[in-house]
Amino acid sequence: MTEIERHEVDVLVIGAGGAGLRAAIEARQRGLRTAIVCKSLFGKAHTVMAEGGCAAAMGNVNSRDSWEVHFRDTMRGGKFLNSWRMAELHAKEAPDRVWELETWGALFDRTPDGRISQRHFGGHTYPRLAHVGDRTGLELIRTLQQRIVALQQADHAETGDYEARLRVFAECTVTELLTADPSTGSGQAGAIAGAFGYWRESGRFVQFSAPAVVLATGGIGKSFQVTSNSWEYTGDGQALALRAGASLVDMEFVQFHPTGMVWPPSVKGILVTEGVRGDGGVLKNSGGDRFMFGYVPEVFKGQYAQTEDEADRWYDDQENNRRTPDLLPRDEVARAINTEVKEGRGSEHGGVYLDIASRLPAEEIQRRLPSMYHQFKELADVDITAEAMEVGPTCHYVMGGIDVDPDSGATNVPGLFAAGECAGGMHGSNRLGGNSLSDLLVFGRRAGLGAADHVEGLQGRPVAADDDVDAAAAMALAPFAPPSDGAAGENPYALHAELQRTMNDLVGIIRTEAEMTAALDRLGELRARLRRVVVEGHRQYNPGWHLALDLRNMLMVGEAVASSALTRTESRGGHTRDDYPTLDPQWRHRVLVTHVRHDDAAGAPREESVVPRVAVEPAERVPMREDLLALFDLDELEKYYTAPELTAHPGGSP
Ligand code: FAD
Repeated sequence: MTEIERHEVDVLVIGAGGAGLRAAIEARQRGLRTAIVCKSLFGKAHTVMAEGGCAAAMGNVNSRDSWEVHFRDTMRGGKFLNSWRMAELHAKEAPDRVWELETWGALFDRTPDGRISQRHFGGHTYPRLAHVGDRTGLELIRTLQQRIVALQQADHAETGDYEARLRVFAECTVTELLTADPSTGSGQAGAIAGAFGYWRESGRFVQFSAPAVVLATGGIGKSFQVTSNSWEYTGDGQALALRAGASLVDMEFVQFHPTGMVWPPSVKGILVTEGVRGDGGVLKNSGGDRFMFGYVPEVFKGQYAQTEDEADRWYDDQENNRRTPDLLPRDEVARAINTEVKEGRGSEHGGVYLDIASRLPAEEIQRRLPSMYHQFKELADVDITAEAMEVGPTCHYVMGGIDVDPDSGATNVPGLFAAGECAGGMHGSNRLGGNSLSDLLVFGRRAGLGAADHVEGLQGRPVAADDDVDAAAAMALAPFAPPSDGAAGENPYALHAELQRTMNDLVGIIRTEAEMTAALDRLGELRARLRRVVVEGHRQYNPGWHLALDLRNMLMVGEAVASSALTRTESRGGHTRDDYPTLDPQWRHRVLVTHVRHDDAAGAPREESVVPRVAVEPAERVPMREDLLALFDLDELEKYYTAPELTAHPGGSP
């Protein structure tokens, strides 16, 4: 029998980025025993990489900003597919979450009169991103960790134990969620009972018993070859949720950030913050043209400057000028760059130029964008105060994710909650920059509250079946055994590289039916080959083994993305179909839901034990509440909605 370390808590938070930490703080503040598990070092979560800032309509730089304007911008950015309730809660609550961070010690950049400064970002009508230079995520995590330490000190003062109600398990990967064993009568069948994982350093197994789990595991970028994402982003939370019986939504919507580094190859994909354009940087093609003026789409006509003069004046006078099209939403800019390169107007290494050198004094660039300056200087030997950067699209963010109740973060599995990038709905088909840091604060808190309410309402504590724990251990150990049929073993690194190429080349920024069908075939082959993956060595810190386990999740999520993208026969936000190039109002109110495929009448999961197959089905998005619909002009909604849907608008005809 395998040796397993065991822990019992009330709320288990998986992930120590902004969403996980904020959820854990909330659960602990409700007095519950809370644990945070993360596969990275504590303090090294992906959130640390966030550069530009956190969007919140505080109105510090332009007093005309309000939650209504932020809500409208977010819905427009997502092409009206967003969960409007999430967008509403987000716009209303983001300012409180930023002010709260300040009371916990965050040191934001200031306006000349001493308020939290806010910067411009694509798709935001007013300067809205609270920031700390271009290291906002670092300050956010530092502050949340400081809050956690303060809570642990309070627990120590009360109980003599720092970890009495808040404990961190760092460098520990969860490989499976555990649900209630119906035979014990200990809680609703299928309800969450905890999680199973392993310590990355020793390989020892660990089981957490918990009646509530909050998934806050971030995104999926490591399934793509060119990405701004860190090594942690292997879609674990999305796959864990699917295997536990929850659904995903909107998985076809993957954001390709327009400005990743394109050179040298070793750093291809690393992000160049949108703050460069927010602070005055402009995109140019090989002929020196500011090409974005030619790419303002019909739905945004009239909202962006038409001449370079007007665009440049806008940086100093936003009341009398329209914003530069360099700051169109990310999906539009990424597609424009793609077209420029494809039509032969790209830069030397296959991107376009981003020029801030000719627009701001060198010392101002270094002051505002210190990380960008060092990133290019050290990694590419480019001085961004003297010459233009070469940039191109990079896989950056997944709008889709775990299907949650907007108010509580609850999934359809009792006791399972999700928040942050691993949850779906909030951003619709395209996320506005800065809306993720605010999303994870708003919905991290709400998921923590939701989990606490769930635990407090329970009659009994769900208990996992021993067989399920043994099965999770056997699954984790499988890559150490050679294939049972005597066939040659597969290398996890080779499989990962093939998966990344498949997703990048066939399910990337521009998609077609033929390519996605080919992608699904290849993913099917990779799924079969994963059964034969063999790793060498022992369980002590063994990156090949870790990758073999992560591949299960990446393959499941890859199939969810490709199947959803194949099903949505239109182009919207982060999903561009070459064979269906326009927005289709009939698709605006339909979301695509992914769940594990059930192939028999009893509804049992099909026997694909390593990587369960998924199915994708359309569902209706709940129509927007009338008072929110009334915040938009009818003229604008007509570009997205069908006529019958607009009868609910005060200006609509019955
Ligand atoms: P993360 O911060 O990624 O945390 C995920 C956590 O889950 C980690 O602790 C990880 O170790 C853990 N984890 C994952 N799987 C497991 C597992 N199986 N077991 C245990 N633990 C697990 N957004 C903005 O709003 N503004 C910006 O300026 C901005 N800049 C960005 C810059 C870059 C370079 C990138 C890549 C993204 C940027 N974003 C920005 C997006 C934003 O940073 C992310 O969407 C956000 O930080 C996600 O936070 P999270 O809490 O959901 O997840």
